[in-house]
Amino acid sequence: MRVAVIDYDKCNPDKCGHFLCERVCPVNRMGGEAIIVDEENYKPIIQEASCTGCGICVHKCPFNAITIVNLPEQLEEDCVHRYGINGFVLYRLPVIKEGMVVGILGPNGIGKTTAVKILAGQLIPNLCGDNDNWDNVIKAFRGNELQNYFEKLKNKEIKPVVKPQYVDLIPKVVKGKVRDLLKRADERGLFDKVVKELELESILDREIQQLSGGELQSVAIAAAVLRDADFYFFDEPSSYLDIRQRLKAARLIRRLAEEGKSVLAVEHDLAVLDYLSDIIHVVYGKPGAYGIFSMPKGTRVGINIFLDGYLPDENVRFRPYEIRFTKLSERKSQAGDVLVEYPSLVKDYGSFRLEAEGGELYRGEVVGIVGPNGIGKTTFVKMLAGVEEPTEGKVEWELKVSYKPQYIKADYEGTVFELLSKIDASKLMSSFYKTELLNPLGIPELYDRPVNELSGGELQRVAITACLLRDADLYLLDEPSAYLDVEQRLAVSRAIRHLMEKNEKTALVVEHDVLMIDYISDRLIVFEGEPGKFGKATKPMGMREGMNRFLASVGITFRRDPDTGRPRANKEGSVKDREQKERGEYYYV
Ligand code: ADP
Ligand code: ADP
Ligand code: SF4
Ligand code: SF4
Repeated sequence: MRVAVIDYDKCNPDKCGHFLCERVCPVNRMGGEAIIVDEENYKPIIQEASCTGCGICVHKCPFNAITIVNLPEQLEEDCVHRYGINGFVLYRLPVIKEGMVVGILGPNGIGKTTAVKILAGQLIPNLCGDNDNWDNVIKAFRGNELQNYFEKLKNKEIKPVVKPQYVDLIPKVVKGKVRDLLKRADERGLFDKVVKELELESILDREIQQLSGGELQSVAIAAAVLRDADFYFFDEPSSYLDIRQRLKAARLIRRLAEEGKSVLAVEHDLAVLDYLSDIIHVVYGKPGAYGIFSMPKGTRVGINIFLDGYLPDENVRFRPYEIRFTKLSERKSQAGDVLVEYPSLVKDYGSFRLEAEGGELYRGEVVGIVGPNGIGKTTFVKMLAGVEEPTEGKVEWELKVSYKPQYIKADYEGTVFELLSKIDASKLMSSFYKTELLNPLGIPELYDRPVNELSGGELQRVAITACLLRDADLYLLDEPSAYLDVEQRLAVSRAIRHLMEKNEKTALVVEHDVLMIDYISDRLIVFEGEPGKFGKATKPMGMREGMNRFLASVGITFRRDPDTGRPRANKEGSVKDREQKERGEYYYV
């Protein structure tokens, strides 16, 4: 079965030399009609039945607008929705089970939101034809677990609630105080309980417009949980939250399932997804072109398969490499030469005071920085970057520092290529940087795009790339995972590790994603204190000591998966959790 997808946002028939694809297509040249021009809309259309799949148009199109894939015949009957001719195609849907949290794992642009719109009854799937009613959908899903669900959906017996992905848009549509918003949502009489659990007491009388990203996220999760629905969907509940807040939110969401509700969650932080889900669907394909929901898997197996990049039961490799986590014993600590010694630093803002212990940094190492929100991590990194003056202590070094701030601005006038080639044009051509950084982060596809038109995730990847391309001794990266999907997080983690190791450089990385921290760090700096009041930063310490100290303050224990070596959060109160807490081993058992 052949699927041809054209990204009409990228297609520009005037700039490619007037429908280049139509002119180069061998079928057309022989008098056939694999590509025709829709004169009315001034766009090319690929007729899948006539296309031979030679791929010439794919390579010739200067804007990478065309995707042609051959998919197994049997998928055809699993086709759920297609956004028009040559539009994105979605195959299969996730299951929905009462009393379970179903996790969805996959990159952005792969059809997760489309699937949820269908399950929430907002979009009647066209079954890849011209269907426009639920009866045919019910028929198409006969014998499938979703048949019954769609029947109820048709009869309006399902009430869905959705926690949207982009919480920063909420203030544009919702006005008023947090208390009023949550009171209105409180259909289950759980206001006090939920407010306490998510620690929202202190912001109840704030206007929605004044909330930070993390506060908005917690309020949005609370509002969804308070509603009385049958089907709950949480789209990226962990964005902007620190680890403690992520796990609190996860516990609250899990409780919905324990009460018998159906819950679906998309999450890119693998430790959180693991903790949250009962079963998992891996979604694979090509972002923007097509997406396929795998059969449901157990959470452990599903995440391991995802890290392997290979689905054994469907015999599909969706990533050319697997991700493995190194054991403590295999990690180097302080192996290289000392790069620099930095002094103790204090920053006093009046209402907030940070005290950071001095320490040493080594060449070739990555030091992770962990701690709650509002504890001074960004302030510390800014002092090292020379952006913020310490109140006490002085950063006096001759080091070249490259800094990626937490909040990145898109105020550059010009394209991605212009921005990056101004930093180092030769590295853009080097095969080392192409393999280790540019291709894995999908940067060449963005070269022609104006920087000020990039989405959050695209801008983040460009900012990380810009930071890593600069010639420096010390790289400071503040929350590189923000706005990135799970696949991109893995790619960024690998890039940071490989570049520091191979170039013998040093990086400090502020991060909340536990798997990323575990994957990239040789040592850790741990921040403790009272968020918004005072913070204390340790000197860099070994992973075991650092993680134990950090996780003890969060109150959660982790074990290692025997197959992939990835850290897994123990369920609270489980035998392992209790044993590990007794021994003070929060990590690496
Ligand atoms: P995800 O939630 O995994 O990021 P989406 O379901 O939002 O993915 O989108 C999958 C693809 O479908 C996107 O690449 C987008 O281009 C396409 N798409 C989404 N909505 C529409 C629409 N209304 N019309 C045409 N294409 C769409
Ligand atoms: P983190 O990175 O750990 O989330 P930050 O370093 O961003 O923490 O902030 C720590 C505290 O310092 C916060 O309470 C924040 O409001 C405060 N703060 C940060 N910058 C300033 C500033 N320029 N003036 C006053 N207070 C600030
Ligand atoms: Fe030109 Fe590419 Fe559009 Fe074809 S798909 S008309 S080659 S821009
Ligand atoms: Fe024509 Fe080949 Fe493109 Fe198919 S893949 S439309 S046959 S150029």
